[in-house]
Amino acid sequence: MGRAFTYVILGGGVAAGYAALEFTKRGISHGELCIISEEPVVPYERPALSKGFLLPEAPSRLPSFHTCVGANEERLTPKWYKEHGIELVLGTRVKSADVRRKTLLTATGETISYKILIIATGARALQLEEFGVAGSDAENVCYLRDLADATRLVDVMQSCTGGNAVVIGGGYIGMECAASLVINKINVTMVFPEAHCMARLFTPKIASYYEDYYKSKGVQFIKGTALSSFDIDDSGKVTAVTLRDGNRLPADMVVVGIGIRPNTGLFEGQLTLEKGGIKVNGWMQSSNSSVYAVGDVAAFPVKLFGETRRLEHVDSARKSARHAVAAIMEPAKTSEFDYLPFFYSRVFTLSWQFYGDSVGEVVHYGDFSGSTFGAYWVSKGQLVGSFLEGGTKEEYEAIAKATKLKPDIEDLAELERQGLGFALAVSRKPPPSQPPEVSSSGLVLQKPMYAWHATAGVIVAASVAVFAYWYGRRRRRW
Ligand SMILES: Cc1cc2nc3c(=O)[nH]c(=O)nc-3n(C[C@H](O)[C@H](O)[C@H](O)COP(=O)(O)OP(=O)(O)OC[C@H]3O[C@@H](n4cnc5c(N)ncnc54)[C@H](O)[C@@H]3O)c2cc1C
Repeated sequence: MGRAFTYVILGGGVAAGYAALEFTKRGISHGELCIISEEPVVPYERPALSKGFLLPEAPSRLPSFHTCVGANEERLTPKWYKEHGIELVLGTRVKSADVRRKTLLTATGETISYKILIIATGARALQLEEFGVAGSDAENVCYLRDLADATRLVDVMQSCTGGNAVVIGGGYIGMECAASLVINKINVTMVFPEAHCMARLFTPKIASYYEDYYKSKGVQFIKGTALSSFDIDDSGKVTAVTLRDGNRLPADMVVVGIGIRPNTGLFEGQLTLEKGGIKVNGWMQSSNSSVYAVGDVAAFPVKLFGETRRLEHVDSARKSARHAVAAIMEPAKTSEFDYLPFFYSRVFTLSWQFYGDSVGEVVHYGDFSGSTFGAYWVSKGQLVGSFLEGGTKEEYEAIAKATKLKPDIEDLAELERQGLGFALAVSRKPPPSQPPEVSSSGLVLQKPMYAWHATAGVIVAASVAVFAYWYGRRRRRW
């Protein structure tokens, strides 16, 4: 038995939702597109699972965070897919793929064939067993990748109020879950092998700000060691965690966030892989011209850095998905993907954004004892990365724009002195091709223009700040 579609999206996560919206914007007929997903629900904004979903009061629940609300676009409910004639094969795992025959075989035994396939299978959470520790199946050990995990985590959390949680891992998931556990009145100890949290991105100075903040909320840190084993009682629950350094921590629950692995398995030996993902070109096309890959599973050329990268962030999932659909539907009008990597996180009342690459020398700026500070990364004499905590919408846009422009940096001390002002100045500079305005008398109209710009700038900045505050409060739950 089998069905055939022009376009098939394999995976029903963030990238799938954004790809579906883009297909409809560009015009597809009913019955042309099919989405196959292991998950039983239509695509949703996965970042909500470690933020609004875990709140003890008025938590976010579906259908409120279906894609594409995270990018302030339409919320695509099951009704929307039906109205657009998009076939949904949900709660169904694809167990094998044949890119030569252009077919997928589902776990229910159906063969689905395609003309064009978009692989959007994302990634799975790494399990403790892969590091030689047993116990992932204990009743109170939680992971967080999908809705089922999040629902389970909420149940376990609710049964542990006032108790002790051990969070294994100091990355995104560990940090965001630790904050949610604290908000749910659970005592948290974080354990990770690195010298500080968010080791892949944060500098020691940035990390120490967040760790101090977490400590002020009661979180304890045990760094430079890893989990060795669990004590498990007769009912199958973990009661204590033993660490490699000999520490033994009583635990009512454990949250594991030790990284992810892209879901490439179906295509190994059929498509070219790189950096752990499916290698694609600047049009998100894999080594087979009928197969595209997007989101966490895709390794694509980041023009800005001149190399192939695989990113694990929601913004890249959204934009790579849209780009693939543009390349499929309007190849002549679609140029190479030109992406500026963007990561963010929101915990407690903190909120940071990062753009670009965290390589080279680091220059910190701002007030690390206050609420707004950041860092620049300078490599080969150019600005390549920018981080900002506690910024306004305009300031975040400025660091994004400045990073994209890759300005030359000659003097690191001067960059430090200018701090955030450097990004703001670079981002406000008119493009070099724009000639200065000349009056009828031949004078360059610089001063009055700057005065006007300054006044307008203050008005715009004030409005932006008010909007950003309102928007930030509204968005914080995602
Ligand atoms: C809890 C959490 C919080 C996050 N917070 C942030 C954040 O604050 N900021 C940020 O930038 N990023 C964040 N991320 C990362 C972001 O969510 C991912 O980068 C994004 O979801 C990637 O989208 P994707 O579509 O590639 O993969 P996914 O959204 O993971 O979707 C993959 C889909 O494919 C399905 N699938 C896989 N294999 C098969 C198969 N064989 N058959 C059928 N279906 C299959 C999966 O079930 C899933 O539905 C977070 C991730 C998590 C888990």
